[in-house]
Amino acid sequence: MDFATKTIHAGQPSEPQTGAVVSPIFQTTTYQQIGPGEHRGFDYTRTSNPTRKRLEVVLAELEGASHAAVFGSGLAAENAILTAYLKPGTEIVVPGDVYGGTFRMLHKVFEPNGCIITRVDFSDLAAVQRVVTSRTKIVWLESPTNPRLLVYDIAAISRIAHAAGALVVVDNTFATPYFQQPFALGADLVVHSVTKYLAGHSDLVQGAVIGNDAAIFEPVGFLQNALGGVPGPFDCWLTLRGLKTMELRMLRHAENATAVAEALTKHSRVRRVYFPGLPSHPGHDIARRQMTGFGGMVSFELDGTPEEAAAFTSSLKYFALGESLGGVRALVCLPCKMTHASIPAATRAELGLSDTLIRLSPGCESPRDLVADLVEGLDRLGARANKAERESVGV
Ligand SMILES: *Cc1c(COP(=O)(O)O)cnc(C)c1O
Repeated sequence: MDFATKTIHAGQPSEPQTGAVVSPIFQTTTYQQIGPGEHRGFDYTRTSNPTRKRLEVVLAELEGASHAAVFGSGLAAENAILTAYLKPGTEIVVPGDVYGGTFRMLHKVFEPNGCIITRVDFSDLAAVQRVVTSRTKIVWLESPTNPRLLVYDIAAISRIAHAAGALVVVDNTFATPYFQQPFALGADLVVHSVTKYLAGHSDLVQGAVIGNDAAIFEPVGFLQNALGGVPGPFDCWLTLRGLKTMELRMLRHAENATAVAEALTKHSRVRRVYFPGLPSHPGHDIARRQMTGFGGMVSFELDGTPEEAAAFTSSLKYFALGESLGGVRALVCLPCKMTHASIPAATRAELGLSDTLIRLSPGCESPRDLVADLVEGLDRLGARANKAERESVGV
């Protein structure tokens, strides 16, 4: 099956009793047993639920893999992987650019328990090679990253990790399985914030872990039930519904991101655009090799003050100012005050996350309307004050 066919057919046969072409929502806590301990494959919804099961089958297939476990959020999914594999005294190696919530979980939850968190620039493979050693249990990466959309060489990093005996975990939230297949590049586990492009409509929070090796996946699958961070059947059904249009949505998201990135590069109030599809992007060549498209996200550096960045992000007509991404409705975010506010200011500066970096998640609106909204918003800021004027008003 091709990708679009899988989103509609994988794990989703018509319902056998009535022929309903859409899977029902099995909104139930428990299942009547035939005799004590004798059941039809389901005994309690934390352990397993038919609606959730269908979703797990599709998600595994979309990643070209064999196993999946769905969780109540992306962070609950990450927690299951880290609890399974990151023990006190063992190390996880992560790039500087990692999702703010992942950064917080590592430093506020796992580090105080004695786990070693090592950060290194993943675009410098020699540096990765130096820090990954036999004490490294997990090498964790996102690509493209949040919010600067840096692209890391998943195959090269996987070779380094595997040579040291470490597992490779890829957060594939930004790329999505539509544009990137991490298992083919060497990943051992893939994690998703299903909240974003997979569900696609900004109407739920959900996560998933996908595995392609039963032995590596099993400890995480065990923790889905043992820790209990599962989503409800209705949210699983909403994701199944959202997935059916995933290819159509991703094509439009990518078209819109390209249009937006090109328009931004031409505006005098834009200092720098981060989009892997631009030949000027430092990860463009790797992205061409390891992705089949450049994704739907665009970030840019405003040529202006932090106050202007805040005013711009609050002034748009179609881009709603809000956390999250990957929905049919366009969203804009100022990472330093929102998604990345939990990273200390000094660390943000060290990572190059400036106060005027703006992240855009173009939705499925028309490219013309989205571009006009951004250009009008930038035009409203007026010309940039010259250096002497800026200094006289202290900015
Ligand atoms: C949103 C996000 C997460 C966290 O997922 P939740 O569903 O919000 O818990 C993890 N990684 C990335 C890249 C994200 O964008």
